[in-house]
Amino acid sequence: MTDEPNYGFDTLQIHAGARPDPATGARQTPIYQTTAYVFRDAEHAAALFNLQEVGYIYSRLTNPTVAALQERMATLEGGAGAVCCSSGHAAQIMALFPLMGPGKNIVASSRLYGGTITQFSQTIKRFGWSATFVDFDDLDAVKAAIDDDTRAVFCESIANPGGYITDLDAISAISDAAGIPLIVDNTSATPYLCRPIEHGATLVVHSMTKYLTGNGTVTGGCVVDSGKFDWSASDKFPSLSAPEPAYHGLKFHETFGPLAFTFHGIAIGLRDLGMTLNPQAAHYTLMGIETLSLRMEKHVKNALEVAGWLEGHDAVEAVTYAGLESSPYHHRIKSICPKGAGGLFTVALKGGYESCIKFVDSLEIFSHVANLGDTRSLVIHSASTTHRQLNEEQQIAAGAAPNVVRISIGTEDAKDLIADLDQALSKA
Ligand SMILES: *Cc1c(COP(=O)(O)O)cnc(C)c1O
Repeated sequence: MTDEPNYGFDTLQIHAGARPDPATGARQTPIYQTTAYVFRDAEHAAALFNLQEVGYIYSRLTNPTVAALQERMATLEGGAGAVCCSSGHAAQIMALFPLMGPGKNIVASSRLYGGTITQFSQTIKRFGWSATFVDFDDLDAVKAAIDDDTRAVFCESIANPGGYITDLDAISAISDAAGIPLIVDNTSATPYLCRPIEHGATLVVHSMTKYLTGNGTVTGGCVVDSGKFDWSASDKFPSLSAPEPAYHGLKFHETFGPLAFTFHGIAIGLRDLGMTLNPQAAHYTLMGIETLSLRMEKHVKNALEVAGWLEGHDAVEAVTYAGLESSPYHHRIKSICPKGAGGLFTVALKGGYESCIKFVDSLEIFSHVANLGDTRSLVIHSASTTHRQLNEEQQIAAGAAPNVVRISIGTEDAKDLIADLDQALSKA
């Protein structure tokens, strides 16, 4: 499909990036299960390797099924280009890699997915990178945390799992003033509910494992570039603005303009880090995205109904769902995620840690798993699982205190979900 800026989201989620297969006419995007592609001749091969011609060389870098997904993701997020990779965590490394170097840091929200906090507070230190975590509601603290070595600001649009919505406009004003990119993890919201680039994000990262694929079959990630950041405005981003030694001195920004980050992500990120998405996974994700808006509407509707019911239950201390009027972040829905606050929230039980364990073990429709964003309803007791690497202070900051259960509301009948929660709460 040719780019038609007037098509609506429901049309684009089905058609963007996909064309009938030129060789066979196949209407669904084929799974190009191939490692390599035959060069027309030696001159063609040289042009591809020089990035003078865009085409397929080797599936660690590019693959037609993955390319269709990349184009669809860029379109749905309103970006210039996208790079898909093997997981959401891979996407975070892929986003940071061209920006960072030894001694450089990022300023990150303290309200992030538990695995991201571990990746940023521990693992990236091995590269000589570091992260400073701050409360992103304290704008002065965000400003104060940025120093000469800061190369990015990082947050989630709707934070997993605390029911927190980031004021992206306020945060992007700060990163703009500092001349550094804002990276937004849009996993919990999806581009249907929130479009971070419209609020000033430079890069949008996704775990496609969650709502985008939507049925718990695939691990995948994606980095979408807005194409709007001026990498050459300072000397802070030499991989993009100066001759890149890892690609025989090519200047990515000068050569590719708004596609600099995307080309760098493929030609160097995927080539040398190798966190490639396989074509079968790309196919499942393309299929999932076709129904994204339909599913997200049902997730939101069910989440509102279930969260509202839980809030009124005697065993419940609190429900953190921004869709509820009781949420301190309810007022941000209108500007940040006008179609709803997603399908994810936490519930705090008066009975504490032990009661949470009984509750989770008594559920029948809900599965206790380390995933979210599935058509199936899922729960997890974060403090004993995904967030167990964190200390209690970090757990509380991330919305995963010991008496808190994270709930990912699926697309089943809300009345059945409520009945299941009711019987489990009575046992807890
Ligand atoms: C799951 C998740 C990730 C990590 O993604 P994987 O695909 O599991 O690597 C990152 N951020 C958020 C918000 C997530 O929910």
